[in-house]
Amino acid sequence: MTPQEILSNIFGYQHFRGAQEEIINHILADGDALVLMPTGGGKSLCYQIPAIIRPGVAIIISPLIALMHDQVTALQQIGIRAAYLNSSLTPDQARFTSQQLRQGALDLLYVAPERLMTPHFLDFLDTTDIALFAIDEAHCVSQWGHSFRREYIELSILHQRFSGIPRIALTATADDLTRRDIIKYLGLEQAKKFIAGFDRPNIRYRVVQKKDPQRQLLSFLRAEGHQGDVGIVYCLSRKKVEKVADWLTNQGFIALPYHAGLPNELRKEHQIRFLREENIVIVATIAFGMGIDKPNVRFVAHLDLPKSLEAYYQETGRAGRDGLPANAWMAYGLQDVVMLRHFMEKSEADEQHKRIERHKLDSMLGYCEMTGCRRQALLNYFGDHLPHACGNCDTCLEPVAMYDGTEVAQKALSCIHRTGYRFGVHYLIDVLLGKTTARITQFRHDQVSTYGIGKELSKEEWQSVFRQLVARGFIKVDIEAYGSFHLTEQARPILRGEQRLDLRKEHKYKTSKDKKYSRSSRTNFTDSDQILWKNLRTKRLELSIAQNVSSYVIFHDSTLEEMVQQCPKNLAEFAQLTGVGNSKLQHYGKIFLEVLEKHTLKYSDVAK
Ligand code: ADP
Ligand code: ZN
Repeated sequence: MTPQEILSNIFGYQHFRGAQEEIINHILADGDALVLMPTGGGKSLCYQIPAIIRPGVAIIISPLIALMHDQVTALQQIGIRAAYLNSSLTPDQARFTSQQLRQGALDLLYVAPERLMTPHFLDFLDTTDIALFAIDEAHCVSQWGHSFRREYIELSILHQRFSGIPRIALTATADDLTRRDIIKYLGLEQAKKFIAGFDRPNIRYRVVQKKDPQRQLLSFLRAEGHQGDVGIVYCLSRKKVEKVADWLTNQGFIALPYHAGLPNELRKEHQIRFLREENIVIVATIAFGMGIDKPNVRFVAHLDLPKSLEAYYQETGRAGRDGLPANAWMAYGLQDVVMLRHFMEKSEADEQHKRIERHKLDSMLGYCEMTGCRRQALLNYFGDHLPHACGNCDTCLEPVAMYDGTEVAQKALSCIHRTGYRFGVHYLIDVLLGKTTARITQFRHDQVSTYGIGKELSKEEWQSVFRQLVARGFIKVDIEAYGSFHLTEQARPILRGEQRLDLRKEHKYKTSKDKKYSRSSRTNFTDSDQILWKNLRTKRLELSIAQNVSSYVIFHDSTLEEMVQQCPKNLAEFAQLTGVGNSKLQHYGKIFLEVLEKHTLKYSDVAK
């Protein structure tokens, strides 16, 4: 079969995406490749199709043991001979797989790197007919990243020991340092580089000023119709994870906590439920996510600021892998800035690393405070360019105004000075607003020249001013001295009136349902469509439980949506759906056609 025939007959897709076809042909012609594609870009097909066509077995190296079962089952479901070897198998299961391998009964074998590197396994491979090596999550070879894996460095021996066998390294991590490490450590200097743009156009980015984050989260979820959707909520601390999960549960969501402090068993159970079920919100620390490739995550929410744009992009990138509309939402406030700046000052790293960390944090803060298109800024950070504003981020949808903030900045900064550098934001705002509190009277700050000079702004507006001044480095916060505010060198020109400062004007916090933010074709569903959608999902869940696999292994949401929209009446029409190849047609065609037929009958009855 040709690559195109495999794509349509086996995978049930009509067209290749981006560079897929070119990459496949390159591997088929014995070439090595380095593939950089965003999450959800379709990297897997790039080695799966050559694996089927080339003689011998393809060895897929991946650190994501937890996913191998689903990945392999998904392939078996469409009739591909695939298996995996990792520490989760019983000795009997492992023996069975080795036997299949020996008999040449496999097209793909997924292995963990530590398994691959055992002398026994390498010897075994010497005598095996190998189609290709695919090195997934190739960024694990780089010590710069946050997912460094020592065994990945050793993968350089593949090049020497199995020369002549094509290797394809794949990653979604974009930055230049990582890319150079991959080439260097995996010996891919001669490999052809396929570098796709990193845009994730279906993800809508939004950053809101943090006030009452839990309530804000809830309004966001409601306004966006996310009840019943799959989502991830990231928090910084374990305690907060627990609290937010409890709270969302009380609000009617199925919310499960996930962090490194939970007993192993429970954590695993929550991860499995998240993968298998279709309406779970996982509330997690950053411990959650490496290799979560559930395609229909509809939102990723951050209640705390990530440390860097790399982390932010990776975490938000877990949304919308199926290409359907998804939300990345973040609440951000003064406290976030203060904490992250503090962690960085305390960091034990050497000067060079500190400089990198500082640059990363500044970029993150700059992103939060920006008034231009967020997507353009993100892509720019990763060395990618978007020539026009995206139209699908908050600043594009509701442009942010700037104002000349020189005078208010002067008031804020001099209030810090007048009160003797001993107070934090709440106190300073009270002084600016001319409040009468016991502390202000006690310290006689109702006598200073800045008392009551800030009545033109509300408390919230002052918070935004102080946050921007901290984020932009005019104010330093001393956590150890009760969060007292200090001025930096940079503040001088402002105070002396030598520098103008433009500030961002915050939007008023909205709770209303904003039509502009409604998403997904599902919002066009009629009531009867909604019922059908639910029934199709129930059928899918039933099948996935019976087979002990994640639902998307049976069908993706996008395929179910097409069923609702096109309502196929027979197998020939069913075969036209995206994601339905020969094998899925055979296994599930009749089952889902029955659900569709029942629904049509019932609703045409009602119509009569
Ligand atoms: P990545 O590994 O790059 O994150 P995947 O390989 O998991 O992405 O693919 C993401 C999704 O896109 C999967 O659901 C996959 O089945 C689907 N997909 C890949 N290639 C195509 C294509 N040519 N047409 C339609 N869907 C595709
Ligand atoms: Zn934009």
